[in-house]
Amino acid sequence: MAKIGLREEWDFALHLPIRYEDETRITRVRDARIGEACQIEAEIIHNEITYRPRRQLVVQTKDGDDLLYLRFLNFYGSQIKQMAVGKRLRLFGEVRQGFFGAEMVHPRYRIVTENEPVPEVLTPIYSTTAGVSQTILRRAIDKSLAALESRHVLDDALPESIRQNYRLHDFRASVLTLHRPPAEASQLSLIERTHPAWQRIKFDELLAQQLAMKKARAARDKKSAPRLIGKKKLSPALKNALPFGLTSAQIRAANEIAADLAAPHPMQRLLQGDVGSGKTIVAALAAAQAIENGYQAALMAPTEILAEQHYRKLSALLQPLGVTVTWLTGSLKAKEKRDAIADIAEGKTQLAIGTHALFQDGVTFAKLGLAIIDEQHRFGVGQRLALREKANITNGKKNLLELEAHQLMMSATPIPRTLSMSYFADLDVSVIDELPPGRTPIVTKLIADSRRDEVLERIRLACEAGAQAYWVCPLIEESETLQLQTAVDTFENMRAAFPDLKVGLVHGRMKAAEKNEVMAAFVANEIQLLVATTVIEVGVDVSNASLMVIEHAERMGLSQMHQLRGRVGRGAKQSMCVLMYHQPVGEIARSRLKTIFENTDGFEIARQDLLLRGPGEHLGARQSGAPLLRFADIERDVDLLDAARDASTWLLKNDNAAAEKHLARWLGSRQHYLKA
Ligand code: ADP
Ligand code: MG
Repeated sequence: MAKIGLREEWDFALHLPIRYEDETRITRVRDARIGEACQIEAEIIHNEITYRPRRQLVVQTKDGDDLLYLRFLNFYGSQIKQMAVGKRLRLFGEVRQGFFGAEMVHPRYRIVTENEPVPEVLTPIYSTTAGVSQTILRRAIDKSLAALESRHVLDDALPESIRQNYRLHDFRASVLTLHRPPAEASQLSLIERTHPAWQRIKFDELLAQQLAMKKARAARDKKSAPRLIGKKKLSPALKNALPFGLTSAQIRAANEIAADLAAPHPMQRLLQGDVGSGKTIVAALAAAQAIENGYQAALMAPTEILAEQHYRKLSALLQPLGVTVTWLTGSLKAKEKRDAIADIAEGKTQLAIGTHALFQDGVTFAKLGLAIIDEQHRFGVGQRLALREKANITNGKKNLLELEAHQLMMSATPIPRTLSMSYFADLDVSVIDELPPGRTPIVTKLIADSRRDEVLERIRLACEAGAQAYWVCPLIEESETLQLQTAVDTFENMRAAFPDLKVGLVHGRMKAAEKNEVMAAFVANEIQLLVATTVIEVGVDVSNASLMVIEHAERMGLSQMHQLRGRVGRGAKQSMCVLMYHQPVGEIARSRLKTIFENTDGFEIARQDLLLRGPGEHLGARQSGAPLLRFADIERDVDLLDAARDASTWLLKNDNAAAEKHLARWLGSRQHYLKA
């Protein structure tokens, strides 16, 4: 039970059914409708094990004059004894027309005595895990509900005015109704969660979330951060050093960030922009502002490849301007690592770039003013929390002013606006909604893998014309070893197919140093064709690469394909992304391929992704094991969300005690997750 999050009485009370079965009525066999679940009561008249077509237990029963056959393909010896002739069974399942007449295959059943009363409420079916039967779960939930009720803990805790204002059902009644709905309740409204009882639960959940985030925000506004006022020294110098002018969207985002940095409270801003929209340089400008104020900046990336690339690009830009850039990842040699850590601690480092190693134990910043997290959705909640705690204490030995560093998060996974507003009520968001000029749109092609030869020919032509190409190997979820093997095989095949080209290979199991070497060779155009697993998904930026082939694209997620495709189309040259699929393609995979084929706008793709996957996965909530919303659905429950937002403002202002009570009830120990 603990495995599915059931520990305390409250957990059980809020473990709400996923559906119901109506056992309040008994249907006669002759009235049973084909394909519809129903309950039947019948008496056993015969049982036997037959072997045709395979071993099975066949039980013959009668309901009045009608016969009903039960077939069990998996059964225990004890079951045969249970099914003794003369016993009465309540059977739950679908009746269908079998070879001998009406039959039920693997019905749920219970042995009853004659005239045993039927339940008065619908039977709840809960999500569960192996080893916990519905019966056990039901009993545990009943017990918790009774205990909570006896202590009046289920009583409504919201002020009367709120309940009236938003026409909310009573809380206690709502919980009890959902667990044990009366026979006449509309099953549809229960399952689709439109029933007033569901509305109440969802409202409460959203209210808790809004309250938590508003409180987090208020707490942040009370904290102090160094005022990093634009000194017009390093930032303009950096802008001048760029080989291009900033887009107006970049300028807008940079200005928003600059203003936040100058404020005396810690910034917490999410910089959103599609793949290739140029977030890095905006982050670099923010770092420059911290540095020109005598503070350190840190840039954390989710992979070594990406961190290395940031290091290379940013040190090329900043070192000539006199900035000390340090690089720190887990794969550094011990001595290099010691030196890097010492430089960061002594304040020699002005900009530290690395993986999450930057925020591990043993690393202290002399004077951290700004922490930047690239591809923040790739980090788990735990890692983001660690970073936030670091930002708290890094400023020397518990700085007297208790200054906290500013935080800038970047993400190329565009989060639909409704989502970001509710999930990130305590974040400010800047959006880069235009791509740098001079990019030719990527052409996307869908090609069956039976036409592999044509694809190979395209690669040959592209590389002969001086371009470079990626070949992305399929995702094999079941086995990492198999995935690796496929990549190695593909690499060998490509080498054989293209004796005149230099072919490289990167995959997740390579040592960081090897990986970096291969990437560096690709950047330098010493490798023309790069065979890769999905490790190249985030951030890699090689503008001469203009062809990408993705094998078994039908297995990939939408945002993953979008990120991958974003690796090409970074120069002025016409780029192409070939999505190779393997027949047959399932329905969901087909709609994914269609979406990616028809859309280039990351926001639209994210919206479709949300429809196909649901919101939880978007935000790394799955990694945390603590999904933030279990009941409400941000897209569907916008009205409730609006109501909850208003109510949270009112509560915090007028009835703080009720707000606290509500939070404790809903979030308990999970509260701190919201801060990440
Ligand atoms: P992302 O937002 O995906 O992190 P990057 O910051 O890696 O994108 O930028 C993608 C590429 O676009 C880089 O090669 C970068 O140098 C280039 N770039 C960024 N801003 C501009 C601009 N305003 N004009 C032209 N090229 C730009
Ligand atoms: Mg990037």
